[in-house]
Amino acid sequence: MNGKVRYTTTQRGACKAVHGGYMYMYTLHREVKLGASWRCELRGKCNGRMVVGGRDYVVADTETSHSFH
Ligand SMILES: [Zn+2]
Repeated sequence: MNGKVRYTTTQRGACKAVHGGYMYMYTLHREVKLGASWRCELRGKCNGRMVVGGRDYVVADTETSHSFH
């Protein structure tokens, strides 16, 4: 599912992206050709990822891989 991302800031000051009902954390070391790579906040448990191009456009995501939640 493509679309726009909404950004939010946690109480601890971390930036998160919200898309398709899931929260994502930015992964600095995973810049990809199409844009910035974000991964599901439940990292370690969940393989959900998305790529955001430009400011807030979702180029690709893997929402079907949110198998734990
Ligand atoms: Zn997930």
